[in-house]
Amino acid sequence: MQPAKILPKSAFPGWIDFLKRSYTVVGPKAMHGQTVFGEIETADDLTLEYNQSVIPPKKYLVPQREVLIEYKLDGTEVEAKFNEEATVVFGVHTCDLHAIKLLDLIFSKGFTDQHYAAHRDNTIIIGYECLTTCGPESFCRSMGTASAPESAYDLHIIDMGSDYFIQIGTERGEALFTGYDGVFTATEPDYARMNGTLSDKWQRFPYRLDVDVTEIPDLLAESYHSDHWQELADICLACGMCTQVCPTCYCFDIRDEVDVTLSVGKRVRSWDSCQIDSFALVAGGHNFRETRAARQRHRFMRKGKYQFDATGMVGCVGCGRCATACLVDITPIKTFNELYRRQQQQPEEVEA
Ligand code: SF4
Ligand code: SF4
Repeated sequence: MQPAKILPKSAFPGWIDFLKRSYTVVGPKAMHGQTVFGEIETADDLTLEYNQSVIPPKKYLVPQREVLIEYKLDGTEVEAKFNEEATVVFGVHTCDLHAIKLLDLIFSKGFTDQHYAAHRDNTIIIGYECLTTCGPESFCRSMGTASAPESAYDLHIIDMGSDYFIQIGTERGEALFTGYDGVFTATEPDYARMNGTLSDKWQRFPYRLDVDVTEIPDLLAESYHSDHWQELADICLACGMCTQVCPTCYCFDIRDEVDVTLSVGKRVRSWDSCQIDSFALVAGGHNFRETRAARQRHRFMRKGKYQFDATGMVGCVGCGRCATACLVDITPIKTFNELYRRQQQQPEEVEA
């Protein structure tokens, strides 16, 4: 890894202006009492000390709605559309960095998703170390996501009071300082201060799951026939909000939108939700996940087991967004802990 940089906070606005000359810069902004990721014009637009953003920064890699191809209906032209906008995404929390790492694995498994790859290639990720937990619904420490995964960021920023300690993740991250003279190479005392800042933070990050993250895939497998899925279904509104705000949900629908002239069309993909009753409706009218209980089970199985089986990473990063968004208070903390409690109460099988 390249030596880290020190950026005095007094030089931070100038660096943002410098980046704006070459990139669209987006980051966390305050809006109506919430935090949303959006384009920034100056450093003043940024809210770096934020609790969880409503929608995760994954929207820059997997947009809510994206045109995949444009075509003429007579078949003479078909053009694939790819993102080409050079963008810097600023201030990504560590849990969202883990989510991006998971999306990288998912979208490159088997056939690489070229549209995701184009977004990834044109998007520079700057992480921001959380020094306090986002709120009572976040459980990043329990999920092992309260520290930044090196493979997901280009730069990673740690607030050290009067200046920022900036870890270099990639060459293109380091290149963001090329031609900017307000930054310095970190020295040994800077590394010592940074290590002190990181070790101090843990007292502010409680464990909120009773079960260890490594046991979650087996817990889910053993809970497949649990009565708890029906108990969740009895209150679930099937609104789909939990999946819309989740940084690791990526299920999509694809539709063709044909112009009123019937001469040109677009193929568009947009976010979908496994909690919506029509999600698993297939040709012939069969719905293979018709009940809310089946859909709730699928959601948690997918987070806790299926994505782990596919990638080696548990599919929940503990951000807590789904819990905040859910009107009936269905939360991963309560669900995982309740499944664990029931598992612990089961009598041990006695071998014959
Ligand atoms: S399931 Fe909930 S807590 Fe887990 S990553 Fe998704 S939104 Fe965050
Ligand atoms: S947000 Fe809550 S009520 Fe809505 S689908 Fe998800 S679990 Fe059900």
